[in-house]
Amino acid sequence: MKYTFCPTCGTKLTQHLAGDDGLVPFSPSCDRFWFPTFSDCIIVLVANEENEIVLAKMPYLSEKYSSLISGYMQVGETAEQATSREIKEELGVSKVHNLHYAGTYWFNKTETLMHGFIGYIKKQDLILSTELESAKWIPVADVPKYLFPESPDNAAFAVYRRFLEEIKAVH
Ligand SMILES: [Zn+2]
Repeated sequence: MKYTFCPTCGTKLTQHLAGDDGLVPFSPSCDRFWFPTFSDCIIVLVANEENEIVLAKMPYLSEKYSSLISGYMQVGETAEQATSREIKEELGVSKVHNLHYAGTYWFNKTETLMHGFIGYIKKQDLILSTELESAKWIPVADVPKYLFPESPDNAAFAVYRRFLEEIKAVH
């Protein structure tokens, strides 16, 4: 999101030189630059000890496809905290093992930076939040059948590929 008016005081922003960033919208009364902003979202591949992956169906997303667990970050949260919170909220699981970063991915349609993660939980029945229509354990090799087709914008697929590389490296 690009700013034209100062979100704090409402005056029209001027263009000021901000070092290597060039001209950036600036509020003279607040003495503050307003760099363009975007949303941050986490997307996490949750696996179990039998190499199965949680795929979830969001009612608003698609009839046909499932996806990984994802959600918008809250102000003041780290990406790791947001990921643990989403797993707890959406699957009812609070013990996550070996949660680690799996790269960032830009989703242009909503100007969102997706923070990818991979984490492990023990195989168990999943207690769904109302946000999800279903969540199922899917064997790792079958996952592409359920995801949106691979594309440069598809973070879920990118994290899945990352997961494949990781398990290949271990075996
Ligand atoms: Zn201002």
